[in-house]
Amino acid sequence: MSVTENLKQVLAELPQGVRLVAVSKFHSVDMIREAYEAGQRIFGESKVQEMTSKREVLPKDIEWHFIGHLQTNKIKYMIPYVAMIHGIDSYKLLAEVDKQAKRVNRTVDCLLQIHVAQEETKFGFTPEECKDMVALEEWKNLTGVRICGLMGMASNTDDVRQIVEEFRLLHDLFSEIKKTWFAEDTAFRELSMGMSHDYRLAIAEGSTMVRVGSKIFGERNYN
Ligand SMILES: *Cc1c(COP(=O)(O)O)cnc(C)c1O
Repeated sequence: MSVTENLKQVLAELPQGVRLVAVSKFHSVDMIREAYEAGQRIFGESKVQEMTSKREVLPKDIEWHFIGHLQTNKIKYMIPYVAMIHGIDSYKLLAEVDKQAKRVNRTVDCLLQIHVAQEETKFGFTPEECKDMVALEEWKNLTGVRICGLMGMASNTDDVRQIVEEFRLLHDLFSEIKKTWFAEDTAFRELSMGMSHDYRLAIAEGSTMVRVGSKIFGERNYN
């Protein structure tokens, strides 16, 4: 199967209102170009340097979404162009993005990453930490960032019930935060969840943005 065919297959499964972030990390510019020519415009990368060098040689109407773990010293390289940062996992990081965004006169769309999976290695706020942070309302002073919703990853398991439970938890948290602090804010509307092996489950639980990589581009070669 080609990138184009894989992409069309995934797109055909997405209900209206669910967008696809094609996760192109570790894949070549040629493969991204193939997906672009098939109509895809949103791409996700997990390393700032890789994203920035790909962007330089690809069409300028691509929306680059940063989905990785963000280090403060890397923010400045992507701040002029990044369309959305999915992995905000502390207030400090949000404030740093805000500071750098203001320097280039931008307001950058951000998602708060929530840790719901069982693995220790996944980053993010716990649901309680996230609510505490939002309740402080300090983010209201940050005009360089716009909080557009939540992002999360389910456990890497074959246990469907476990995955569904975690997506449900994310959706419940999203609804609660939306209702309590963002009811009037139309920008707060994204729930980024679902990857190659679980995006169908994520959609059933209310995802608005799936991040699919290997299902479109094939296995990644990390060497
Ligand atoms: C790599 C990655 C994906 C895509 O994973 P696939 O299993 O290849 O679809 C999605 N989200 C995040 C945060 C990732 O790091």
